[in-house]
Amino acid sequence: MKCDFCGGNTRAKKVKRQHWLKKQLYIVENVSAEVCMECGERYFHAQTLDAVDRFLSEEHEIKAHLNVELVQFASAAA
Ligand SMILES: [Zn+2]
Repeated sequence: MKCDFCGGNTRAKKVKRQHWLKKQLYIVENVSAEVCMECGERYFHAQTLDAVDRFLSEEHEIKAHLNVELVQFASAAA
């Protein structure tokens, strides 16, 4: 497909995605996406996102628990 933002060509790839479900954040590896070769924009099919929702809703193997920082970018620093 063509990228909506820059018109570049996209390619099917497996990517790592930050995925929110029921106010919880998951990092999900190996998710199918179309990735723009020019700007890096990623496109996910609604079907794929539904499948990730289902996968996370059911019992699944957890590779690791991560600590993440939530911060607000201080725009004055830019
Ligand atoms: Zn693009």
